[in-house]
Amino acid sequence: MSSISPDVVRTCKNIIRDRLVPLFVYLPFWAHIATNCKILISYSVQTAGIDPHNNIYFNPDFLRSLNSRQQLFLIAHELSHAAFMFFERKQNRDQKLFNVAQDYVINAILTDAFEHHTILSKSKFQPPGILYAREAIDYTAEEIYAMLCNEQQSMQSPGASSSSSSRSGSNSSWQNQMREVLRQIEQENLILDALHQALEDGVIIYNEELESSATGSDMEVAVRKAWITAKQAGTLPGSLRKHLDQLLEPFVEWDVQFEATISNSATRENKNRYAWNYSNRRQDSYGDIVMPTLRGHRCKAVVAVDTSGSMHMAMRRSHNADCTYLEQAMSEVEHLRKEYDLDIFLLNCDVQVNESEWVHPWEDLPSFTGGGGTNFVPVFEYIENHDLNPDILVFFTDGYGNYPEEAPPYDVIWVIFGEYHPPFGDVIKIPV
Ligand SMILES: [Zn+2]
Repeated sequence: MSSISPDVVRTCKNIIRDRLVPLFVYLPFWAHIATNCKILISYSVQTAGIDPHNNIYFNPDFLRSLNSRQQLFLIAHELSHAAFMFFERKQNRDQKLFNVAQDYVINAILTDAFEHHTILSKSKFQPPGILYAREAIDYTAEEIYAMLCNEQQSMQSPGASSSSSSRSGSNSSWQNQMREVLRQIEQENLILDALHQALEDGVIIYNEELESSATGSDMEVAVRKAWITAKQAGTLPGSLRKHLDQLLEPFVEWDVQFEATISNSATRENKNRYAWNYSNRRQDSYGDIVMPTLRGHRCKAVVAVDTSGSMHMAMRRSHNADCTYLEQAMSEVEHLRKEYDLDIFLLNCDVQVNESEWVHPWEDLPSFTGGGGTNFVPVFEYIENHDLNPDILVFFTDGYGNYPEEAPPYDVIWVIFGEYHPPFGDVIKIPV
C-alpha cells in the first residue's frame, strides 16, 4: 500500500476530467450520477471499487492501463453501482454473489449503450476481465442472483439437475461462465468491486468540494433527476430505462388510487365496469377505442396533461428537487401506463388541445413543452367531439383553469399539483 505520487494524482485527475466531457455528451445519465459521487484513487483496490458511501475508487495503474473508451466504460460501471443502489438493494444477500449479479446487468447495459453509439463503439471499450453476458440485459440483479444461487446449489450437489438452466437455455455459455465465476469466488480468485468499507489511503481526484457522496434517498433524488434529464434529451438507453423503471417508485401509488376510484364509484349502477381485476365488463359497449391490456381486460383511458406555464414550476418537495410539475406528471404517466400495461390516448393542453395521440406501452412518451394559460373545457369537448367514450380520464394539472359546468359521464381522476380542489371527480393531490 504505497502512497501515491503527485504526478500520478495529477495524471489520474486529468484522465477523469477528460473522460467527463464525453460522459456528459454521450452518456448524460451517468454524468449526472458522477456529480453526486466522489472519485478517489487507491492502490488498495486492484482495479476499481465502490464503498457503501458511494465513494468510487480506481487503482491508478489499472486506470492508466486502459484506453480512453475503456476508462469511460469503467467510470460508468462504478457510477452504475451507485445509481442502481447496490448497497441498498443487496439487503442480506451474499455481497460477492450480488456483486457478480449486478456486474452482469451493468456490463450488459453499458455494452448495449456503447455498441449503439457511433462514436463510443469505434474502438475496444470493454475493460479486460469484466463479467459480461449479453443475455443479462433482460434480467434484474435480483434474478441473476437467484440464478447464481441455483447454480451454486447444483454444483454442490451434482446429482440434482440444475433448474436455473431453463431461463437462459440449458447449458448456455452464460451458465458455464457463471459456474466458472462461482469456482473463482470459492478459490477467492475473482476481483470484485463492491467494497465493505471506505478505503483509508484513497486520494480524492474528483468532487473534492462535495461533502460526501450521495447515498440512500439523496441518491434516489439524483437518479430521478439524471433519469428525467437524460430522458428528455432522448439519451437514455432503452435497456437502462427498463431497469430504472423498476428501481424508481412513482410518487402516486397507482394501484391504490385506482382501487379507491373503484370503491368511490360504489353508487354507480355499473360500478363493476371499473373493477380492473375482473373481466365481467360488457364487451359490446366500446366505441372506436378499445384498449387491450396484458391482464386480459379492456379499459379506455384518456390521459390529459396540462402544459400551461404554471406546470413549469419546480417541485420544492425534496424528493423531487428541481423537477418541474410537468416532468413529474410525465413520470407519473409513465408509471401509470406501465403499471397497467396500458394503451393511452394522450392529450396535451393549455388553453386548447395541442397534441393528441395514441401511445402504446412499448412506445416512448412524447416530450411536451407548452406554456400559456389553462382551460380544461377543450379537453372535455375534444373527448366528446371525437367520440372517445373513455372509461376514465386522468388529468394532470395544478388545478387552476376553467372547468366544464357539468361532470362528464365517465370517471375523472384529477392529479393535482398543489392544493386546488376541482368541482367534480376524484382527486389525487401531489404536494409541491
Ligand atoms: Zn462492478
